[in-house]
Amino acid sequence: MKAYAMLGIGKTGWIEKARPECGPLDAICKPISLAPCTSDCHTVWEGAIGERSEMVLGHEAAGEIVEVGSLVKDFKVGDRVLLTAITPDWNSLEAQAGFPMHSGGMLAGWKFSNIKDGVFAEYFHVNDADGNLALIPEGVDPVLAPMLSDMVPTGFHGAELADIKYGDEVLVIGIGPVGLMSVAASYLGGASAIYAVGTRPNCIEAAKGYGASEIINYKEAPIVDQVMELTHGKGVDKVIIAGGTVHTFPQAVKCVKAGGCVANVNYFGEGDCICLPRVEWGVGMGHKTIKGGLMPGGRLRLERLASLVTHGRLDLAPLVTHLFNGLEGVEPALELMRQKPEDLIKPVVVVAEDLQK
Ligand code: NDP
Ligand code: ZN
Repeated sequence: MKAYAMLGIGKTGWIEKARPECGPLDAICKPISLAPCTSDCHTVWEGAIGERSEMVLGHEAAGEIVEVGSLVKDFKVGDRVLLTAITPDWNSLEAQAGFPMHSGGMLAGWKFSNIKDGVFAEYFHVNDADGNLALIPEGVDPVLAPMLSDMVPTGFHGAELADIKYGDEVLVIGIGPVGLMSVAASYLGGASAIYAVGTRPNCIEAAKGYGASEIINYKEAPIVDQVMELTHGKGVDKVIIAGGTVHTFPQAVKCVKAGGCVANVNYFGEGDCICLPRVEWGVGMGHKTIKGGLMPGGRLRLERLASLVTHGRLDLAPLVTHLFNGLEGVEPALELMRQKPEDLIKPVVVVAEDLQK
């Protein structure tokens, strides 16, 4: 089969590879729509997960099942499905302990384009199909469905980690597609005010649409100064980090009130340590909770998030700014993610011919 792969750090290209094999609990899908991710860029051009050779890229997709294993109960050939970027082994001890994303080891629930081939191919393999797939419900546009693979569950996990409660004032640092979904999740969770950090005009417009009350430009002045001004020196109840660098982290801690929470879903790609500001952490006694997590995958989560879309609570359309047709489109789409032009939020590659416009 034809596939788009990482050939080594900094190198990508088209390769021929054997079609994946289907185990008894698995499914083989062909993609109907695909999306490249900021994480694919970290993987290829920053060597975030180390050297990989001929590893098929991509972990955001909607697919059509072409084969199911003998023990798969709830899916059949021809079903059009959603899947999450994280595909845990649901019978692992880590999953039983409540951390499916770490099934098999730290972050090892992230399999696509990490420890096995990803979805940018004519066919891809899904482990534990009953646990990791969900039917695309009526009311979810299959073209937008890859947003439910990673951007929606990751952004919502940020809000989940932050434990958003009604009336919370929330700071969301980063309003790329992940942060935008943290804004949406905070709004749905009852935040009274949402301060959103970013500069790209399309992202700002989308953030306002998803419920941001104020926009903070991190290039103009330190985030903490702007937050303190907006909150009359009090700070916010919760911070969700969905962008920035290790230098952003101490600012997040400074912005949160005593007793508040900083929740991170961002990838920190450089530096050995992340600093905790001593004084603003209450010299160690400020009851400021710090959490960071890879999103959990799974069918239940997919179905619940998709239900927000089908009931009109969450609109995926503002996330997608660029469309490409045909599997070949993954190459320019990934390049677009790498370049991040001003008007980009997220591209989608429409593979199924009946969905192409
Ligand atoms: P984008 O690059 O599209 O967005 C990043 C956002 O952060 C932009 O709004 C950008 O602002 C802002 N930003 C950049 N630098 C700073 C800074 N110094 N201070 C404050 N804000 C800044 O990324 P994505 O939304 O696609 O992904 C966000 C992060 O989430 C990435 O690190 C990605 O790897 C990670 N991720 C994590 C996953 C998980 O499961 N935990 C899954 C998927 C992604 P501007 O408008 O100026 O560009
Ligand atoms: Zn992703």
